[in-house]
Order: sequence, then structure tokens, then C-alpha cells
Amino acid sequence: MSEIAPDRSPANAILRLVAAGKVTSRAQAARVTGMARSTIGLHVDQMLRDEVLTEMEEAQGARGRPAKELTVGRGAGYVVDVIFDRTNTCVAISDASAAIVQSRIIDILLNPDPKAVMEKVLGTADDLLSDHGLLHSDIRQVIASVPAPVDFHEGVTAHRSIMAGWEGIQIARILGEYFGAPALMDNDANLMALGAATTLHSDELPLLHLQLSTGIGAGLITADAKIHRGADGSAGDIGHLRIDNLADARCQCGKVGCIGAYASLHAVMSQLGIEQGADVDPRAGQKALSQMVRKADPAALAALRDAAGHLGQLTAILVDMFNPRTIVLGGPMVELSDDVLSTIRGVVYQEAMSIATRRLVISPSRLGNKAALVGAARLGADELLDGSSARSS
Ligand SMILES: [Zn+2]
Repeated sequence: MSEIAPDRSPANAILRLVAAGKVTSRAQAARVTGMARSTIGLHVDQMLRDEVLTEMEEAQGARGRPAKELTVGRGAGYVVDVIFDRTNTCVAISDASAAIVQSRIIDILLNPDPKAVMEKVLGTADDLLSDHGLLHSDIRQVIASVPAPVDFHEGVTAHRSIMAGWEGIQIARILGEYFGAPALMDNDANLMALGAATTLHSDELPLLHLQLSTGIGAGLITADAKIHRGADGSAGDIGHLRIDNLADARCQCGKVGCIGAYASLHAVMSQLGIEQGADVDPRAGQKALSQMVRKADPAALAALRDAAGHLGQLTAILVDMFNPRTIVLGGPMVELSDDVLSTIRGVVYQEAMSIATRRLVISPSRLGNKAALVGAARLGADELLDGSSARSS
């Protein structure tokens, strides 16, 4: 089967294969694409002149002859990735092969001063660029990840979210105008799912990624490795589903009985009397909970197991709905205790349809708190390679 999609130019097809690590030499490019060596040579030479590709001498070729290795070059462009987080916002630069060139955590809370956060984000990005001798003109794409539902039509976070105070701030527009590049903003659960998908083989998709944190979020990656966002971008916002009749739990959204109100990390900490008001550093609460778990505090373990049981029921419904091949569980709740994963797994295998669970694999995230960044870099690279900026002919 040819690896060239019909709508791609030959140069773009070669660039994509090099960026994906599937092709590292001219000879390999000819074999994989079925194009003549001379045609490959013309396109590669042009991309070398444009610095879209680089070709470096390797010490030793496969058959003893010196081989030249193709990699993506500066001319293919770079991505600025901004992963907004309640406590640890991260700014990074990534390239057209989705490799993270450098990343830096900013020690600033998202609230209460969005303007200060944005200034620090832009300043940090400029520091990273100058560290690598890059200019704004090298940036061809910006990806922003936010821990809140995203209104795709407006490019802002939805109301009544964890990002209170950010309503109406056009994050993507501000970032895009600053770097003079197209900017996309997505919900972190979607980007975490895309990040997790990069650790899987194509036959391990579709993927359902669940982030079990202060809130509960899901991201869906389709069999062809794309984010399923739905019509408006809100697919996977599962934290406000009502699956049990626990009507007394009032949610931050104003409604009663949302699963996030009784099975999230926030809810578990509330049950245990751990302080977590708006003026309390969110890191302190998580530290207190993890200390309780480490000391095998019975109330903490019971609260986590109880929450995991509800999450298992939710997951079983999602399994019947989407029939994923793989479920990846990420977030502090999973990291706190092995019990959480095993409880969820047990409920899913018991309650979901057997046809959907026979080959289902449920595993913890391998990316930890890097998942959203890895996903943003992947999305950024896809946008670079799709856009005209990276097409040299
Ligand atoms: Zn709710």
C-alpha cells in the first residue's frame, strides 16, 4: 500500500515520512513511496535548500558505506506549546517531528491574576526561543491546552469552570498574535488523550483516556488517531454526568449529583476534611491526601476506593458507548493508590458488555504529567505538516 495520501504533494509526503521517523534516507524514501530515486532527489534537494530537511553524514552506513541521515530542519518550523495548569503551567517549543526541544514549568497559579500568567507565559516562551537562537518567524503554530471546557467557536474557556476569572479572555488569539502564527486552543483532556495515543500502536486504538484529577475528564482518540471533539468541542466532558442517584452532592457547576461532585479528587478531599478553598494552595491538599494514603489511613483508602467504584461504573458505560481497544487512566487519583486502577478495572469487566471487554486493555498513563504536552506537540506537528507553511512545493 502506498504511504502517500492522494491530496499530498510528493515533497509533503516525504517530509511527513521523515518527521514520523519512518524514513531516514533517500533510498528508503524511494522504497516507501514508490517514487523514482531521481524524483526523490529533486524534492529532497529543494527541501535541503529551504532547510525544511537536513541531511547529516552518519559515521557508518548499514552496509559499510557512509549513509546520510535525513531529519526535519529549521525551515519546517516550530511550535510554541502552552499547557495551562492550576499549579504548574508549562511552556515548551516543539518541532515538526513532535519532538520537544525544550520545556519549562512556570511557578504561578492560574488564579487570581490571568494577566500576570499570560505575561509570564510570553516571557518564558521568548526566553526558550532565544536559548535556541529561534525567532518569532520560526514559530508556525501555537497550541494552548487549558484545564477547562473550550468553546471552539469563540476560542475561550467555558463559563463556571476551574478557570474562573479567565472567561472572555481570548487566549488563542493573544498567543497567535504575539507569535504571528495560527493558534489552536484545546481542552487538556483531549491533548492528554492524544499524548497517550503516541505511546500506542495503531492496532491499540481507539483510545479512551480518562483524567482522574480535581475534576474528571475524558478524551477520545479515534481508530485513525484523531481527537474526537464532537460538534462543538465538548465531547468527553463527562464530569457532570449523573450515573448514580447520589442527589445530595452539589457540584461546582450548580447542579446536583454530577459524578465530579462525589468521585473526583476534589470530592475525596472534601469527604476527608482536607481544606481546599479558593485561597488555599491546591498543592497542599494533594500532599495531605498522599500522606494519608502512604500511612494507610483507613478513611482515605475507603474514600478513594468508593470513588473508584463510581468511576468504574462511569467507565463501563463509556466502554459500551465507544468500544475502545485501550483505556489509559491518568491523573493524581491513579498515582495515589494502585487500588483505584484495580477497582475501576474490576467494575468495568463486570459491568460492560463482554464483546467490548474481551480485548480491552486498561492501563495507567506512561506519561504522567507530561501527557498534555506530548499531545500538544503531536497536534502542533500535525498542523505544521498539514499547513502550507511546511509545504515546500
Ligand atoms: Zn456538575
